Amino acid sequence: MRKAVFPGSFDPITLGHTDIIERALPLFDEIILAIGTNSSKKYMFSLEERLGFLKETFKKEPKIEVMTYKGLTVDFCKTQQAGFLLRGLRNAQDLEFEKAIGQTNYKMSGIDTLFFITSSGKSHISSTVVRDVIKHGGDYHFMVPDCVKK
Ligand code: ADP
Repeated sequence: MRKAVFPGSFDPITLGHTDIIERALPLFDEIILAIGTNSSKKYMFSLEERLGFLKETFKKEPKIEVMTYKGLTVDFCKTQQAGFLLRGLRNAQDLEFEKAIGQTNYKMSGIDTLFFITSSGKSHISSTVVRDVIKHGGDYHFMVPDCVKK
């Protein structure tokens, strides 16, 4: 069974995330959307809200599981018997950042990361931009799945 973990904060999930997930789905029997919990990080949306948005967005997709985890992402992958990690690349900064993490994860565990380059027209979308627009009362709905509301 081909299983991958897509780890992230999903604060909140955006149409950038859904783009990567939908394109990766044909390659795997199961994709686990895994929210890493980091108690020292401040989030706009609670863990329950972020979990709820992911579950609602993919409620009709039987190949998707939504979970949370603590600790190292590769340790979580092992507990789930997932052989691959998924990440998205929007730009050169993402590549530099993700390269170091991907290489380290591989060294630690032999688990490889599969990178998807964002679809054209979606690279401007990020959870950070969505949160900024929300904070300033702007319209953010064109960047997120319908269920995301603040
Ligand atoms: P993290 O805090 O772990 O970076 P995020 O939820 O911000 O979590 O991102 C999770 C993954 O989704 C990352 O690989 C990120 O590069 C990718 N991603 C986010 N937005 C986009 C986008 N617009 N296009 C492609 N990938 C994206």
